[in-house]
Amino acid sequence: MSATATAVSFVPFHRAMIGQEEIKAVTEVLESGWLTTGPRAKQFESAFASCVGASNAIAVGSCTAALHLALAAIDLRERDEVILPTMTFASSGEVILYFGAKPVLIDCAPGSFHIDPAQIERHITPRTRAILPVHFSGYASGLDSIVEIARKHNLKIIEDAAHSFPSSYRGTPIGSIGDITCFSFYATKTVTTGEGGMITTQDRELADRMRILSLHGISRDAWKRYTAEGTWRYDIQDIGFKYNLTDLQAAIGLVQLEKREHTRQLRAALADRYTRELNSFEGFITPAVPSHVEHAWHLYVIQVDENILAIGRDRVIEELKQRGVGTSVHFIPLHMHSLYQQRLGYRNGMFPNAEARFAGAISLPLFPGMSEAEQSRVIFALQDIARQFRR
Ligand SMILES: *Cc1c(COP(=O)(O)O)cnc(C)c1O
Repeated sequence: MSATATAVSFVPFHRAMIGQEEIKAVTEVLESGWLTTGPRAKQFESAFASCVGASNAIAVGSCTAALHLALAAIDLRERDEVILPTMTFASSGEVILYFGAKPVLIDCAPGSFHIDPAQIERHITPRTRAILPVHFSGYASGLDSIVEIARKHNLKIIEDAAHSFPSSYRGTPIGSIGDITCFSFYATKTVTTGEGGMITTQDRELADRMRILSLHGISRDAWKRYTAEGTWRYDIQDIGFKYNLTDLQAAIGLVQLEKREHTRQLRAALADRYTRELNSFEGFITPAVPSHVEHAWHLYVIQVDENILAIGRDRVIEELKQRGVGTSVHFIPLHMHSLYQQRLGYRNGMFPNAEARFAGAISLPLFPGMSEAEQSRVIFALQDIARQFRR
C-alpha cells in the first residue's frame, strides 16, 4: 500500500472527472451549428428540475448570477437587509451589496460550519427581507428552524446550494424547499459545466421574472428569436443581465447529471474511508454528519486538533504540501475581510464560532476520480504529520 502511495507524485485538491460522454456531447453541439442557449439548455433545465422536484429551473452562467437574480426577483431594495452566515464564499455577500442592501452576518452554530438558527431572530429588523442559508460542504443544517422563522416573519428563503447537489434534508431534495435555491456548476463543484449555475423555485411568478432578467430583461423566450419558431420582434421589459448558460455548457451538464448518483457514491466512499482512517489515530477531528441528511460531499473538512498537535492549521497545510498533497480552506469568514470591515464595520472577534472553525479547518482532496493510492498518500501524510508534531 505504501509502495503505491509513494508512486503518486502529487495529489491535487481537485481534478475534474470528464469522460468521453461529455466530450461527445460538446462535439455534437459544436457540429449542430447552435452554440449558445438553445435546446440543450432547455433540456438541462427540465432534467434538473425533475431531479430536485422543483416545478421551475433556470440555467444561468454561475451560482453568483443565480443569487443575484434571486435577490432581484424578490425586488431587494437599497438599505434592505439579508441575513446570511459569515462562514461563506464572497458570492453570497456581494450579491446583496450589488443592491446597496446590507448583508447581516450571523455566526456558526457551536462546533458547526452552518449558520446558527438560534441567532437569527434577534437580527431581524423591519428592513429584513430574506434569509440566505449556505449548505456548507454538501448538506443543509437547521433548515426546518430557518423555514419556521422565515414564515413567522414573512421573509423569503434563498438557499445558497453551491455545495449541495445532489442532497436532501429530512427526505426532501435540496432545490424544492426554500423560495429560491441556487446551485453552482463551477469546475470544482459536484456537478460541473466548467462555469455555470441553476436556479430552482416552485413559484412560477418568481421563475418568469428571473428568466426575463437572465437575458437582458427581454420578453419570454428571447433566445428563440433566431430559431424557426422565433420572431425578430422583442420587448425590453426590465433592466436585465447577460446571465444565460450556453448549450455547450448545458451539454456537459446533461451528461454530468446522469452520473450524479454514481459520482456522489464515489465521493461518499472516499469520505467514509477518510473518516475511518483518520479516526484510527489522534491529531485531526473528522466531520460529523447528521443522520437526517443526504450529503453531497462537495467538501471533506477536517479540524486540526490543537490539544494533540503542536502545530496549527497553516503549518499543517505547509507540511501537507511538502508531502505532495494539495488542500484548500473553506472559508475565510466574510467579517474578516477588509470590504466587510471597512464598509460595514465588522471586526475580528465578532463571531467566535466561525473564527474557531476557520482557525483549524483544512479541506482535503475529495473528487470522484481520486484513486485509492492518491487517498492513501493523503492519509499517510496526515499520519506522518501527526506523529512528527505530536505535543
Ligand atoms: C462556489 C460557490 C459560489 C459561487 O459559485 P459560482 O458558480 O462560481 O458563481 C457561491 N457560494 C458558495 C458557498 C460557493 O462555494
